[in-house]
Amino acid sequence: MARQRDAVCRLCRREGLKLFLKGNRCYTEKCAIEKRNFAPGQHGKRRTKIQGYGVQLREKQKVKRLYGLLEGQFHRTFEEASRRKGVTGELLLISLERRLDNIVYRLGFASSRAQARQAIAHGHVLVGGRKVDIPSYQVKPGQVVSLKPKMAKNEAVVAAMAAGRGRGIPAWLSLESDQARGTIVALPRREDITMPIQEQLIVELYSK
Ligand code: SF4
Repeated sequence: MARQRDAVCRLCRREGLKLFLKGNRCYTEKCAIEKRNFAPGQHGKRRTKIQGYGVQLREKQKVKRLYGLLEGQFHRTFEEASRRKGVTGELLLISLERRLDNIVYRLGFASSRAQARQAIAHGHVLVGGRKVDIPSYQVKPGQVVSLKPKMAKNEAVVAAMAAGRGRGIPAWLSLESDQARGTIVALPRREDITMPIQEQLIVELYSK
């Protein structure tokens, strides 16, 4: 499984925004954005104003990093969204939200999307009672996502679920935390995605 190899806090600092890539640490004062909210590197403090292509590129990088995708995976998701009927930017975000790794994270079964991806790849996650080990799997309304019973008792998962309760879960999901089980109540809508994202900039970037 290909993965992002940069130190993850550097990614948040580059985007100037908390991307919540490091689990519970993101909610403490140890967060690098809280301590050093400037770009990484020797010239990081010299914020230069970016325009045009630079703004579009940063927006794409931000969303790609938020959901933990590599360039090829992200571009493919965009291409699929652009082939469907509707507003491409919104369809892209909805498609990213419907990824199984995002659902496992949103339900609080993992403290980050990276941890969720690992649990899925190791076969600990069930969809409709069947193992699904593809992090990009697109969930559908009515499907039930759960953890294998042994995994639900895992210390890291129990801690993640306790922390996840503080984060809350989106309205389009419902959670039975005692069963380590969640249901996709409806498809996510654009307004359910609360991170500051200007998806139109990504569409403009890829349309060049
Ligand atoms: Fe980003 Fe989390 Fe690191 Fe803070 S602790 S900079 S939110 S990954």
